[in-house]
Amino acid sequence: MSLFTAETIERVRESADIVEVVSAHTDLRRQGERFVGLCPFHEERTPSFSVKPAEGFYYCFGCEAGGDTIKFVQEKEALSFPDAVEALAERYGVEVEREQEDPRAEQRRRHRARLGEALQRAAAFYEATLWGTDKAAKAREYLEGRGFTEDTLRAFGVGFAPSAWDSIVAAGQRAGFSLDELRAVGLVQKGQKGGYYDAFRARITFPLRDVRGRTIGFGARATTPDQKPKYKNSAEGELFHKSRALYGIDRARGAIARGGRAVVVEGYTDVLALHQAGIEEAVAVMGTAITSDQLKQLGGYAEEIVLALDADRAGREAMLRAQRVAGGAVRLLVVAMPEGEDPAELLAAEGGEERFRRLLADAVELPVFHARAILADADLETPTGRDRALDEVVPVLAAMGETITRQELVSEIADRLDTDPALIGRRLGAAGPPVPGAARERRAPAADVGEPRPRPPGRRPTVEERRETAFLAMCIAKPDAGREYVSRIGEQHLVGEHARNALPWLKEHLDTPLEGLPREDERLFAVISRLVMLAEREPVEESALELSWLMLERGRIDREISRRRREGAEHPEQTVELQRERARISDAIATRST
Ligand SMILES: [Zn+2]
Repeated sequence: MSLFTAETIERVRESADIVEVVSAHTDLRRQGERFVGLCPFHEERTPSFSVKPAEGFYYCFGCEAGGDTIKFVQEKEALSFPDAVEALAERYGVEVEREQEDPRAEQRRRHRARLGEALQRAAAFYEATLWGTDKAAKAREYLEGRGFTEDTLRAFGVGFAPSAWDSIVAAGQRAGFSLDELRAVGLVQKGQKGGYYDAFRARITFPLRDVRGRTIGFGARATTPDQKPKYKNSAEGELFHKSRALYGIDRARGAIARGGRAVVVEGYTDVLALHQAGIEEAVAVMGTAITSDQLKQLGGYAEEIVLALDADRAGREAMLRAQRVAGGAVRLLVVAMPEGEDPAELLAAEGGEERFRRLLADAVELPVFHARAILADADLETPTGRDRALDEVVPVLAAMGETITRQELVSEIADRLDTDPALIGRRLGAAGPPVPGAARERRAPAADVGEPRPRPPGRRPTVEERRETAFLAMCIAKPDAGREYVSRIGEQHLVGEHARNALPWLKEHLDTPLEGLPREDERLFAVISRLVMLAEREPVEESALELSWLMLERGRIDREISRRRREGAEHPEQTVELQRERARISDAIATRST
C-alpha cells in the first residue's frame, strides 16, 4: 500500500478542474462565483447543488452531499481514495509521489506497472485485430449473430487473438517486453521443447479489468468446436487472481453504487448482453462459485447482490459458504434462472429484457432459495424422505437467524412437509444459535479504510439540526456579531453531530473558516464547507442571528429541565428557576418573531 505525499494530494486538488469533473454528471451554469445545477446525488427538479471552483468544493442544499474533487470522484465513480487520487492525477497530468516507499516496494510497483502495460498493449492488439483484419471475419460474424452492437463490444474492449503461434511473442518482444514478462501475465506459454508460443490463439478475447479499467488478464472463447477448452482464462499471476476478478466491474461499479445493487452472472457474454439491455450493474465471476473476496468487493458498492448463476447443488453450497464467510454485510438474493437458459440467451429472445427484469424483481434470499431447492429435490411422499429433507433444511434455517423471512419460510416448509411449524421450531432450538456473522444484521455505515464506500446521502436533518447549522452559518456570514455568539455557545446548545464537530474550529477561525482547514479530516471539511456555502447563500440580519441564538438557548434549557426531571434531581428550586428563564426567553422570541 503506497501513501501519496501531501504535496501530491494537494497538487491533484489544485490541478483537477472541479467544474469539469462535476459537469460529467450534471449540467452546471455559472452564478456569480458559483456554479449551480441539479444534484447528481439525489433526484430533484430545482437545482440545489453548487460548486465553488475557487475553493474546489461542492455542496448540495437538498441532500447535504459535499466535499472536494477527490471526494466527488470517490462517491460518484465509486473509487477508493487512492484510486480516486490516481485517476485524477492521470487525467490532469499530475506526477504522483509516494511517501517513504521502500526501494523494494517501488521496484515491485514499477514491475507491476510494466506487466500492466504489456497487457494493455495486448488488449489493443487483439481489439485492432478484431475490427481491422479479415482473419477475424468469423469472430465478428459470431458476435453480431449474438446480437452485440459494435458500441457494446468496443466499450468492453472485446478483441480477437489470431491463430498464429507467435503474434504476441513477436509483437511483445518488439515492444520491449521480455518473454518472462509476457509469461508472467499469461500472454505466452512455454512449450515442451522450451520455445514460447501465444497463450490465446484463434479466440475471441475479453479483457478482464480491475475497478479502474486496467487490464489484468483475459478470458478467451474458442471460435471452432474442436478447440478445447471452450473458455480459457489467463493463468493466475501477479495481476490476475481468478478468485478476486470480477468481469465488467470497471463499467458496472458506478451503476452498482447508484442503485445499491449488483447482478452477478457467469459469462462474459451475459455481462455484455445485460449492459446492452441497460442493466449496467452486471458483473461476472470466473467460474460458478462466487468467492468471499468477490462478495467483499461488491459489498463495498452494493447492499444487495443478486446472483443469476447456475444454481446446481455445487453452486448452492458455494454460495452459502461465501455468504457465511462474508457475514451479514450484504444481502444475497438468487434469481431462479430458467433451466438451460443463460441471461444472454434469455435477453436475445423476444421480450427477453422484460422477462429478465421480472426475474430480477422476483429474486429471493439465498437461504430461501436453498431451502426450496432442498424440498424440490426431496422425496416428500414418504415419512423417511420428509425426515431427510427436514434434516437438510434445519441448518439452512438456523444460519438465517431469527427473522420474519425465516418465520415465513418455516410455515412454508411445514406446509410442504405436512408437519407442525412447532416441530421445526423445536429442531431449530436444538440446532443452536445462528453462526456468528451469518445473521442478517445490517452493515454499520463505516466500512474498512481504503475500501470504496459510496453511500447514498444520509437521512434528512431534524429541525433542531437545521436550526443549529443555520445559526453557525449566520455567524460566519456576520463575523462581527457572530464572534460574540460563537464564544457564548457551548456543546450543551447543540444536539447535531455536524454542528458539534464544527464548533471548536469556528471558535478559532470564524473570519476565514476555509483557510488552513485540515483536508484529511473529511467530516470537519464537509461540515465547514457546507456552512460556508450556507453563509453565502442568504443575507443575514442581525436580528435573525439573535433570534436564532435565543432558540438554541431555549433548547438547551428544555433539555436541562427534562434531564432533571428524568433523574429526579434534587433542588427543585433550580428547576423552577430554569422554567422562569425559559419563560423569559420564550417571551423574547415571541416579541422578536412578530
Ligand atoms: Zn443532493
